[in-house]
Amino acid sequence: MSGTYIVTGAAGFIGSNFAKLALEKTDARIIALDKLTYAGNLANLAEISGNPAFEFVKGDITDGNLVRKLIKEWAPSAVINFAAESHVDRSIDSPVSFLQTNVTGTFTLLEAAREYFSSGAAPSDFRFLQVSTDEVYGSLGASGYFTETTPYSPNSPYSASKASADHFAGAYFATYGLPVLITNCSNNYGPFQFPEKLIPLMILKALEGEALPIYGDGSNIRDWLYVEDHCSGILEVIKAGVPGEKYNLGGNCEKSNIEIVNALCEVLEELKPASGNPAMTGKGISRYLDLKSFVKDRPGHDHRYAIDASRVKNDLGWCPVHKFSQGLRKTVAWYLDNLDWCRDISSGKYRMERLGLKGDED
Ligand code: NAD
Repeated sequence: MSGTYIVTGAAGFIGSNFAKLALEKTDARIIALDKLTYAGNLANLAEISGNPAFEFVKGDITDGNLVRKLIKEWAPSAVINFAAESHVDRSIDSPVSFLQTNVTGTFTLLEAAREYFSSGAAPSDFRFLQVSTDEVYGSLGASGYFTETTPYSPNSPYSASKASADHFAGAYFATYGLPVLITNCSNNYGPFQFPEKLIPLMILKALEGEALPIYGDGSNIRDWLYVEDHCSGILEVIKAGVPGEKYNLGGNCEKSNIEIVNALCEVLEELKPASGNPAMTGKGISRYLDLKSFVKDRPGHDHRYAIDASRVKNDLGWCPVHKFSQGLRKTVAWYLDNLDWCRDISSGKYRMERLGLKGDED
């Protein structure tokens, strides 16, 4: 794979992992476009910032002039849209930025891509890939899986905004023939995830000897995928996906939140035993597991997500290579080795506080 990829949201968790993998596995030049919100950090791109095939542009995907200018200048073979407001709890407290970035921003990119594609300036294999989530499908009961034909039924402002963006993307294929691909992926984990999300939040709180806040009774289930596997799936979809199609990406790895927290505590006991951690011994707490604390559930909390990823396996030959235990260990080890990164990126507004209760008392 070669040419130029415009990668939006490349300073965030998945986008930065994707930019690194794409530079390693393809000959593509990467133009990263990112607004650098609280979730975007140039530190996430430090290892590739000197690469001559990599360029960073600070900017907003809702800025039509900028997006058109970049597309004209770089004549990309793909636009890959990771840029988003991505945290469900924030979408409950303040949904408007989700509407702006996730809906208007995606629309702005689609318009610029349509203009480019219809002008004949785009290469014949041009692709617009919309990175989406399994949350657009709503909630499952105890059985069943999301397939690519499951109707959208979003329940949070976040998932509603992602669903809306996906509908625009699909409409641009159906109406204008823009070669759009959509990937719907399950929960990611791995290095460089902003510590407001479950796994890094729990690691950092445990290391500080703070309570581990588990929403509701901890029984909500997500399907977990190691971030590098998600990124390799996206590369496959760009290479061989059929325009107009959707592809579900998942880890076939359902875990309840309480299982995740238990597993994390076990790995932490191995890599950084509580008995040798002054933040724990100072409080007289002997095991990370004893930090578990059940808190009020998230409003509208979907019970279960589970992905059927057989289309991408059968059609494109993709499947995840990381086992959960291996990915989790790598993730915990990465956070332990990168506590400075955590400190630096958390030093702004976000201080690992609970969000998303609509002003209710906890
Ligand atoms: P993230 O919050 O870590 O990163 C988002 C990035 O987008 C940040 O760098 C931010 O600065 C940038 N951004 C936000 N608004 C912007 C704007 N208006 N213009 C330009 N850049 C802007 O998110 P993530 O977890 O890396 O998720 C990336 C994408 O993958 C999102 O579209 C998300 O919906 C999707 N996704 C995430 C997961 C997951 O588990 N994290 C799962 C499935 C799909």
